[in-house]
Order: sequence, then C-alpha cells, then structure tokens
Amino acid sequence: MAALATTSSLSNYPRLSISRYRDQLRQTDRANKVDVNYSYRGKAYSYSIRLDKTACHFGNYRYWWLCPSCSNRVAVLYCAGIYVCRGCIGACYASQLQQPIDRLFSRADAIRQRLGWQSGIAYGNGSKPKGMHSKTFDRLVNEHDRIVQRICGATMQMIDKIKGSVSYE
Ligand SMILES: [Zn+2]
Repeated sequence: MAALATTSSLSNYPRLSISRYRDQLRQTDRANKVDVNYSYRGKAYSYSIRLDKTACHFGNYRYWWLCPSCSNRVAVLYCAGIYVCRGCIGACYASQLQQPIDRLFSRADAIRQRLGWQSGIAYGNGSKPKGMHSKTFDRLVNEHDRIVQRICGATMQMIDKIKGSVSYE
C-alpha cells in the first residue's frame, strides 16, 4: 500500500518478466528473441527483444532478456517506452515519466496534509476536518480525486495489453 505514496520504487512501473514466456520457451532451445507489440501512452511499439540463455541442470536452459539499451542479461525489463533494464530505467524516467508523476503525488499529499488525512493515496479519502468550510473541503476533495485519477491513469493504463511471441532466426 505504502508503495503508492512514492514513485521511487520500480514497482510502480510496467514490467516484463522473462518468466511470462516460460511456457513458450520451454518448448524450444533455439529461441533467440521475443517479438513484442503494445501501445504505451498512445504510441504503438513493435520490436524484438533479444534473449540469452544459460545452461542449468538436466540439460535445460534458463532464458534471460538482453536489455535492448545496454545488452545486459536480466530477468526483468521495465517500460520506458521501450523496455529496458533497471540500470537503464533511471535516465529514461528522469526525463519522461517520473517527474510529472512525482509532482502529482506531491500535490495529492499536500492536499491530504491540509485535510489531515494519512499520507498516501492508497489510504483513500478521510473525513472533513473540524472547522473547515464545506466549500473548501469539496474543492480540495475534487482536486484530490482528479489527481488520483490521473496517477492511476498514468501508472496503470500506460500499457494496453502487451502481445509477445517467441521467435527464431
Ligand atoms: Zn540496460
């Protein structure tokens, strides 16, 4: 719950775990990329993410993503338009995503503080503080609710369904 109160955590952002393709990958030892199609903030993306594999027991393989940006071998990629590793995500978010959302979180928290509500939008709305005019209260709650909607829209709906398929060369 508290994670929603800050954007410093990577958990707020869309992630793509290699384990999602485990079943498809299990059927082959020749896969070398996954083709992905999705739309992110209204823009369509279609490209391939390269795979690497390491041998594990009983002749099986463990697959990894190769970060499209730096080629590091990782199990999870994070969405910054294209998917990149956690090492690459910082630079991307600093410019395009984290700052606007951070501002929304700060504004929501400033309103919550004024209303005497617990910090963090995950805690929901509280009641009207004693002595505050109803008009002021309504205005603040309305603004707060609009911000919460924007935060949810930005973090939850940035990605419409990702479609991925394993492919070979
Ligand atoms: Zn990277």
